[in-house]
Amino acid sequence: MKKDSPKIDVTAWTNYPNTLWRYFEAMPFEKDSKTWESVTMGEGQTPLIILDPLEPDTYVKVDYLMPTLSFKDRGAAVLMAKAKELGVTKVIADSSGNAGTSIAAYAARCNIACDVYLSHTTSPKKIAQVKAHGATIKEIVGTREDIAEAAQKAVGEENTFYASHVYNPYFYEGTKTYVYEIYEQLKEEPDSLIIPVGNGTLLLGAYYGFKELYDNKMIDKMPKMIAVQAANCAPLLNAYEKGNDRAEPVTNKGTLAEGIAIAAPVRSQQIIAAVRETNGEFIAIEEDEILNARTLLADKGFYVEVTTAANYAGYLKYKKSQGEKVIIPLCGAGIKSK
Ligand SMILES: *Cc1c(COP(=O)(O)O)cnc(C)c1O
Repeated sequence: MKKDSPKIDVTAWTNYPNTLWRYFEAMPFEKDSKTWESVTMGEGQTPLIILDPLEPDTYVKVDYLMPTLSFKDRGAAVLMAKAKELGVTKVIADSSGNAGTSIAAYAARCNIACDVYLSHTTSPKKIAQVKAHGATIKEIVGTREDIAEAAQKAVGEENTFYASHVYNPYFYEGTKTYVYEIYEQLKEEPDSLIIPVGNGTLLLGAYYGFKELYDNKMIDKMPKMIAVQAANCAPLLNAYEKGNDRAEPVTNKGTLAEGIAIAAPVRSQQIIAAVRETNGEFIAIEEDEILNARTLLADKGFYVEVTTAANYAGYLKYKKSQGEKVIIPLCGAGIKSK
């Protein structure tokens, strides 16, 4: 997915509400398109907060402060605005949880029918959230890959719009706003971003976002992408350590970090290239580190979903240098998981 960077007009940002739609003109929509106005639920512009006064260079971006309580709303809002603009009447999505809840919510907002394919093991709270929005649940017994396959088969048979957070490029047009916001909030580029990686929708969005800022000469360097995977399901880390360009599928040995447990990430080549290009690295998190990190974050006031605790565990393992500005995303809210 190589793409040209848009020309960024910073003066245009103030013409839009203080949401991720501030960056509307850097997204692939016609300039006079107004569809987003009926789709937005105020997503974006989440707080960037110093986590602990004793570590003034470490920030959390509180991305669970979103309409459906996860960063996936960035991608879903933009993707569904595009679907609505195209006159789509039904979408199909597949997800291990948060992407499905987000697509279901924005589909409801757009008055578009929605089928969500998910695993029978998905946490009941996330399933309840999807159902609440009137989406049809298609529970699949099988691996994450089996679920994607079932969804893709239905897309083909029904000739429906595939609202995939992994395949659909508009999703990344939404997740890139994560770093546009950081750029505005920090007033410079950070040195490093800790990013949880399953399918890489936040990592690649962040990479594209910074690339666009860099190509527009708004920042001087690309921040390092520090990618976090669960040790029990780490195909990208394995490939990176072997010096390979793409990941071989692994068997998910089971992890509490269900949101990043992707055994065969389809965009592995792009993810690994982005980490290498930015001089980043991969960090593996063990199961006991996840719950411990969740407690430590809650002790500082932030209650996150279990998957998100892995991000903080990644930060704790990362050897940062003196004065290095690091940003940790708080991707999902605590009430989303057990
Ligand atoms: C989706 C998600 C992730 C991982 O994102 P990928 O796009 O799969 O890399 C991490 N944390 C939370 C809370 C998520 O919802």
